[in-house]
This record gives sequence, structure tokens and C-alpha cells, in this order.
Amino acid sequence: MSTAGFNSQNGTGTGQTYTNGPSQNPVALQQPPGVGYGMNHQPAYNPMQTKVLGPPSPALYASGPYQPVPPGPQLGSYPPPPAQPLLTRPPIGVLPSHTPPQSASPGPGPRQAQATPPAQATPPPPAVTSTSYYTGPPAWQYAAPRGPAPNHVNPAAAAPPHMSHGSAQPPGPGAPPTSIHGYPQPGTAPPPMNPPPPHTYQPNRPAYGPPPTAPPAGPPGATGTPPPPKVDGDVAGNGPQAPNSYNHVDNRMAGAAQPGPPGRHLGHYPSLPPGYQNTLAPPPSSLHPALQAATQPYIQGPQPYQQQPGGPGPDQLSPSMAAMSLQSGTPEALRVVNLLQERNLLPPAPVPAPTPCLTQDLQKLNCSPEVFRCTLTSIPQTQSLLNKAKLPLGLLLHPFKDLSQLPVVTSSTIVRCRSCRTYINPFVSFLDQRRWKCNLCYRVNDVPEEFMYNPVSRSYGEPHKRPEVQNATIEFIAPSEYMLRPPQPAVYLFVLDVSHNAVETGYLSVFCQSLLDNINALPGDSRTKVGFITFDSTIHFYNLQEGLSQPQMLIVSDIEDIFLPTPDSLLVNLNECKELVQDLLKSLPNLFEKTMETQSALGSALQAAFKLLSPTGGRMSVFQTQLPNLGVGALQSREDPNQRASAKDVQHLSPATDFYKKLALDCSGQQVAVDLFLLSAQYCDLASLGCISRFSAGSVYYYPSYHHQHNPAQVERFQRDLKRYLTRKIGFEAVMRIRCTKGLSIHTFHGNFFVRSTDLLSLPNVNPDAGFAVQMSIEENLDDMQVVSFQAALLYTSSKGERRIRVHTMCLPVVSSLSDVFAGADVQAVTGLLACMAVDRSVTSSLSDARDAMTNAAIDSLSSYRQSALTIQQPGLLAPACLRLFPLYILALLKQKAFRTGTSTRLDERVFAMYQLKYQPLAFAMLMIHPALYRLDDLSDEGALNINERTIPQPRVLQLSVEKLSREGAFLMDAGLVMYLWIGRNCHQNFLSQVLGVSSYAAVPEKLCLLPELDTAESQRTRALVSWLRDQRPFFPSLHIIRDESQLKPHFMQNMIEDRTESALSYYEFLLHLQQQISK
Ligand SMILES: [Zn+2]
Repeated sequence: MSTAGFNSQNGTGTGQTYTNGPSQNPVALQQPPGVGYGMNHQPAYNPMQTKVLGPPSPALYASGPYQPVPPGPQLGSYPPPPAQPLLTRPPIGVLPSHTPPQSASPGPGPRQAQATPPAQATPPPPAVTSTSYYTGPPAWQYAAPRGPAPNHVNPAAAAPPHMSHGSAQPPGPGAPPTSIHGYPQPGTAPPPMNPPPPHTYQPNRPAYGPPPTAPPAGPPGATGTPPPPKVDGDVAGNGPQAPNSYNHVDNRMAGAAQPGPPGRHLGHYPSLPPGYQNTLAPPPSSLHPALQAATQPYIQGPQPYQQQPGGPGPDQLSPSMAAMSLQSGTPEALRVVNLLQERNLLPPAPVPAPTPCLTQDLQKLNCSPEVFRCTLTSIPQTQSLLNKAKLPLGLLLHPFKDLSQLPVVTSSTIVRCRSCRTYINPFVSFLDQRRWKCNLCYRVNDVPEEFMYNPVSRSYGEPHKRPEVQNATIEFIAPSEYMLRPPQPAVYLFVLDVSHNAVETGYLSVFCQSLLDNINALPGDSRTKVGFITFDSTIHFYNLQEGLSQPQMLIVSDIEDIFLPTPDSLLVNLNECKELVQDLLKSLPNLFEKTMETQSALGSALQAAFKLLSPTGGRMSVFQTQLPNLGVGALQSREDPNQRASAKDVQHLSPATDFYKKLALDCSGQQVAVDLFLLSAQYCDLASLGCISRFSAGSVYYYPSYHHQHNPAQVERFQRDLKRYLTRKIGFEAVMRIRCTKGLSIHTFHGNFFVRSTDLLSLPNVNPDAGFAVQMSIEENLDDMQVVSFQAALLYTSSKGERRIRVHTMCLPVVSSLSDVFAGADVQAVTGLLACMAVDRSVTSSLSDARDAMTNAAIDSLSSYRQSALTIQQPGLLAPACLRLFPLYILALLKQKAFRTGTSTRLDERVFAMYQLKYQPLAFAMLMIHPALYRLDDLSDEGALNINERTIPQPRVLQLSVEKLSREGAFLMDAGLVMYLWIGRNCHQNFLSQVLGVSSYAAVPEKLCLLPELDTAESQRTRALVSWLRDQRPFFPSLHIIRDESQLKPHFMQNMIEDRTESALSYYEFLLHLQQQISK
């Protein structure tokens, strides 16, 4: 096996920029490698000296050679409105809106909608008004809405009752007493409140209006704090009037019902893995004496912190490590685990994110790991130290995640570093009342006068208590300088395949019904626009202009030179034309019921849709059921089913044409994102089609073998996904910039977007279910730093037309010893990032290369741990406890649909899995990689969660091995997008009757995908668990109830990662392989 796999060539220029695809960042690629940024290149990454490198293979850890480009537009400067292309009008001049243009051939009789001349029709009002963006006077609005998913602060939801508790702040000095965005009128005296937690603000100052001018009796050093009426803000729980609306500093991300350490907890999962003891070493008696010492938990001794020979001396122990020692004194992360001896590695509950070794004060303020995670929670001081660890350095982000509590600030001055434009955040330092030091570039900045006033405590001279400095996640409503054009309205265009194949699947009626059901829940405001295009071999537009008596279909058959027949009446104001839209949705499924048209001119339909959306930007939702085979963008089947299982390498992972990518980039330039719903039983070349979404920051949904009758599970999934899709929040014309402390640099991005400049991602749409990952390298030594910070800023237009900026800031310690680097490894984040890198590698190089590289990642890091971090050499395959799951996860990746070989895997399904790995937030990607297995026939309430008076059983997570199955049992496998409930042949009668409602094993139906709602305790427990698991994620996993004879059983068994298959090693064999490689 090659040992060169994942070793990277830093700074040599031979590596590749792993942007999200080959030449994905054309700007960057024009730059000579290794130029720019004036950075001191680290000594070329020197893979382990002892290793003999093969021919340099592309590095997964492309830590060096990214190509910087001149700084792009600042986030602050909203990108200039793109040149608006002239609308392509029909060559026949202005047409009456009810008459198809000459070159648009009317369809056959039944398809030509009756056109009633809109005699009384008035032109639609101007689509875009510029009045709704914030232009008001300086005003402080502060709100911490608690409602779910506040895309935009819904005034109704955000104000009473919570806001009436005083968190809605009146405008600041001189503000007129008007309500902005529906916030409570200033001057309204907030009612009494609960006591505040520490660090909360005291909004119940009586004073409202201009900041006090009299010298306050404030804290020492304050230049002017009005005397607090009853309390002083430093003490918790003082005064009955304080609000509690700010205490989400501590539990911001955790659902109310979910216990757990403040701000740490994943929220979904039981907070304390009750059986974590399980991961302790087996009883000493079962171990070789030599291993006993090694497997003792590192609880008391200083052993884990012993310095490496030649390493820094004890006096150089970083403060963070000191902090760590001060913590519970249990560096569990560094406990030595012999993987060959210890079988029960899985914690009984899902693996929590590690906590960085920061002082409590800092950690309390830190960003939630649900939003922001780093592969190494202790950042190595130098690139060479990072290179030694052989672990990838990168960030995983879920920046637009639905948050139950999101502080929102309206301010005329958003305080940012004058030098690097970092937003002020909890990790800056205040030199004094008037100056703050940037934590990214260390520039000293002035505190603006306005910032001296704290809207929260309504006091002067407390800039460090402002919400911006108390919250690692915060959202600003941007003042007008953040926009160069009025914020765009919410615009939704639906592009629907209506070919014979499409009609056969029956998706159209599900779509139409779903949109009808949710039409009032589409995010937007009075400006919201919608439009529809259908297509087969021709393109059909729908005139929905107000005043028409019914929708009017306009058919364009010239697909080579597509034009818009009536550009002004195809995208209409939803509120004004809702009835026509509803009429259309009701009639569409019937309209094409009898079609015999089999061809699909998808490319032309996309071009038409792009033309329609270009002037405004917006969201294009494309539904496609077959391989496009007509006109531009036509594709041919590239899959040979006979090659699926046998080929060592998989061909055709990259697009067949650049048509879809080019169009996506055009869309991106016009603030249009394209979401693709692919519903097909046949090969559709997702590798080509998916580019339309990938580069326009859209999403890809895939429903293989969708059929309204034959595949009810897919139909249910499609329905549920659609509901979420149509109603979830959305941000338009977004950009995201990720900054990090000087010395670190970001070089490769993963996800769906276009990289506009080195660190600026263009996101025509951003949705709450999108994840991103970035890779980083250390360009300058971080010797003098105790901590470093990362900041992601997402600037977007809400569906209500507000320009908003969501800012997340994470702080991590810097360490100087290899042990400390290992101790901070976040094995799930490492795995998630490696998966992204391996997807790129599969496309740019080959699947086998990517597989080798993943294996080598495990070999290299464990080898480095053994050679450089372990102080006592012992036999066995040793890993620090924090990385004990690393080989298992790597093996799981090798067996994942995206990367597996030797098993028949449809090309589209493989490509879709690859998309998912790059695009899903980490928590969901991990379920795809390593599903959770639970036993269900003996569920009990012991250790159950209680959420909203529902009892949710918490069975322990089992190893993925048939060893864990029993014929007497029933087992649920949660693999993210899909769940399997496997029923053992001798399953207890009780489970069969009380949960499945059948009399015997033989009576379990073949295609059961629904748990019957029985009024038994067993049924309730089972359904509570399944629905709770489903509720944790934004997509809807199908449930398949399978028996031994079921067709789907192989799918279930393929996820038994620890077992051997014909073509893949068992976990134990894999460990032996790793050990063999390491001891070479
Ligand atoms: Zn700065």
C-alpha cells in the first residue's frame, strides 16, 4: 500500500487547491502558487522523515499551496449590483399579455389555457420597493427571540411576551419614539422580570431616551453610568425586575428541555452519556500486565503532560494547559487505549464534541460546537507541530442553523476592526474604556461613542457588557451602508419536469399539493414573487398577471434560442395573484396527465429560468425525473451497471459537460441559487446536473426510484422534505467571510458556493440546513499567543427584506506540545473534514487514491502519536482516547456509499453521497458515516428523556456488528437519511403484537414503512424514539421495517461496519492492517 497518501506537500506548489471542485476558483488558480500574503512560508511540509514517499500524490492535507488572490470586496461593502442583462424579449415587440408570441407555438388544444383578455387588468405594481430596508435613525433594538428559527425577527413573536420583559430596548439617544420592525414602542416601561443570571443586562432602567449625562454612581472606572435602580450588573440574581431573556449566553443552543452543560451540549442527545464508563479500560485482570499501566486513566498523574524530549520545557506549558490541569484533572483525551484490546469503544450515547481547554470565563462565552467546530480544539503553535500530528486542521460550520435563541442587535454603528474588519466579539480585549484590541489582527481600535452606551443595561461606560461582547453568536440588522441596492424581495421560481416520465412518477401532484398547503408559509413579505416554468421538449411559461381570469400557458418551442414571451407577467406578486397561482397548482397535474412527450430540454428550461430571475435574484427550484436529452446541456448515460461492483476505480465522478457549472456561475453572479430535486429510477448523471446547485449555493435532493405507488417511503420523504424546504427560513444575496487570527490562513472550502475571493463565499441563497468546511494552515508561528479566534460573518437579506449579518466567533487555545495537540483532537470533526477532502480527491484523482489517503491518515496520525507523543513504548495499536474512534470512522468511510468498492453502487447514489458528505452539517454527516444502532424490543423508561411531557427512551448505541444482533430482538439502525428496523426471525411475540400489530414474524408485511399507532406502552415508546430521532434533523429519514428475507436487508447489513464483507476488511482486520503499517 502506498504510504504517500495523505501526506501533503506544503508550499511546494504541487498540491492542489481543494476548492470545491476543479478550477472552482478560477481567480485563485490564475495566481502563481505560493505567492502573496507576504507570508513566511513554513518550511516545506516535511512528511515523516522516515517515510519513503512515492510519487507525490495530491495531498489531502493541502496545508500549504493555496493561491492567495488580491483581497476581494470587504464583507462590509455589499457587492455591487451585477450588470443587469437586458431582458430577452420576443423578437416581435410588445405583445398583448394574453397572446403567445409568434414564435411561441401554442400547444395542442387542451394544453393551451384559455386566455381571457385582461381588459381590466392593470399592470402589476412595481415589484421592488426600497422602503423596507432600514434607514431609520440610530436606534438600539435588542432582542433575543426565543421562537424557533427566527430568520427574521417576527415582530409578533419577538415582542410580547418575551420582549415585554424588557429586552426590547427603546431607541437610543434622540431616537424618535417609533417602532422599528414592529418592536415595542420605546418608552414602554418593561414589566418586572425574573432575576438575571450573571452577565445579563439590566434593562429595567427607568431612564429611557438620551443617555444620562449626570455622573453615575457606576462601577469604578465607568465614565458615566446612571445609578442602577436596584442592582449592579455584576451580581447575579439581584432584583426581581431583571429579565431572563439574555441568559442564553449560557444555554443559547440547548433546547429548554435538554439538560446538559451550558453551551456545550449537542442539544439533541442525552446530556450525560450514562455509560461512558464503558469506555474505560477492561478490568486489569484481562490485560497483559504490560498494558495495565497503559490503560489506566490518566486521572491523577502529570504523565500526559510530560514534555517530549527536546520539546519545550515545563515553564513553557501554555496557559491553556494550565487551565486544563486546573479543570477536573481528567485528561481523558490522552488516556492510552490499545485498540486491539479494547472492543467496546463506542460511548452508549452519541459522541459529544470535545470542550476546548480554555478558562471557564472564555469557554462560557464560546461559540456552540453545533455552529462552529475545529478539527483540533488546541491549535498547534507552528505548522511543523501540526505536520507532526498528521491531523488535518480545519473548521466545520453550520452558520445559518436554526437557533432557538439568537440575540439580534439593531445598531447604526456596527463596531469592527478598522484594519481587518473583524466584528467586535467576546474575545477582544478592552485596553480601557475607550480602546479595544482586535483579537484577529491585534490592532488597537477606538470604542465609538455610541458603543459606550449599553442598550442592555442602559448605562454608559460598559462597552464590555454590550451584547456584541457577550455573545459568540449574534445577528445585526445592518444599516444602509451594507447595501448598494435595496434588499431583494423573496422570489421563488419553480421549474417542473412534465415529460411522460415525470407524469408517470406522480411527483407533480405531490409537489402541487404541497405548495398549495404551504403557500402561506413561504418566507417573505408583501413583495414576495413567484413564477412557474414547466418543460418537456418545449418550455412552457405561465402568465399569472393580476386581472387574468385564469392562468395562461405560453409555450416556447424554440429551445435553441430561448426567450421570455411576456417577461413582466411571469413572476408575479404572490399576494396579489395568489388565486391564479392556486388555480394553476390545482390544474397542473391534470394538464399533462396524458402527455406522451418523452424528451427533456432541461438545459433550455434552466436558461429560461435564469433569464426570468436575473433582474431580481432569487431561488430556482428544479424538479427533474430523467436524463436531459434535448438541446443544450443534453447528457448521455455514462454508467455501465455491469461495472459497478467489479471496477476498482469508479469513472465519471466528474461532470460530463461544463454547461451546468457555467450556468450556475451565471446564476451566482445574478444572486440566483438553484436547488435540484432529482426523482428518478434511472441514471440521471447527478455528477453533471449537480453542478447547477453546487456552484450556485443550492441544495441537491435525490429520491431514487421515486414512484407514487411503488415507493411510498420515498413519497413520504419527498412530502416531508418539501414542507421543510418550502417553509424553512432563507437568506438571499448572501456572502460569507471567514476570518482567523493573524498567522493562520484558510485555503480550501467545502460545501455549495462559489469562492469569490480568498475568503469570501458567494451564496445567492443560504439555508439553515447547509454545512461548510474549510481547511487551514499555520503561516506564522503562534508563539506569543495563548489563544486564537475564528470568525464567520454571514451577510444576507432576510425574506422580509432586511439586510442582516450573523456573526459567529470561536476562540481556541494555542499549544506547543504534540501531546496537547492530540489531546484536543475532535475525532468527528477530523473525520468530517477528511470525508470532504476525500470527495475532492476522488474527483480530481481517483477513488482508490482517496481510499488510500484515508487509510493513511489513520496510519500517519497513530504512528506519529506512537513515535512522538507516547512516553512509554508499549505493544499494541495505541491511540489516545480522544482518537480511539478514528480507525473505526475511517473504516466506516471506506465502506460508505461514497467511497466503497466491491459492492454494486449506483453512480448517482454514490455521487449523491459525496454531495451529502460535503454539504451536510457534521452531526448529520456522522450519521451517514457511522449509523447508530439501537435495540428496540427491550426499550424501557430508564434514563429516558422527558421532553414536552413526552418520554423518550434512550437505548444505548450498539456497535455495528451482527454480533450485537439477536434473532429474538428488533434493532433500529439510524443512518441519517434512512432508518432500518430489522426484525429478528424469533423476535419476541410481545414486540410483534404490541409494536407492529402483527401476530407473527411471518405476518410482517414486506414493504412496511410505517409504525402503526397502537395504544400500548411498547408502541408509544418505540414511536417516541423514532419521531424524536427524526425531529433532530431537517430532512425526513424514511423508515424501512425489514425481515431477514427483505430485499433491503443487504442495505442494512452493509452498514455493519465492523464486520467483514467479501470485499472489505472487518474492523479487527483493519486494525491489524494499521498496526502492521505503523510498525513498518
Ligand atoms: Zn483586526
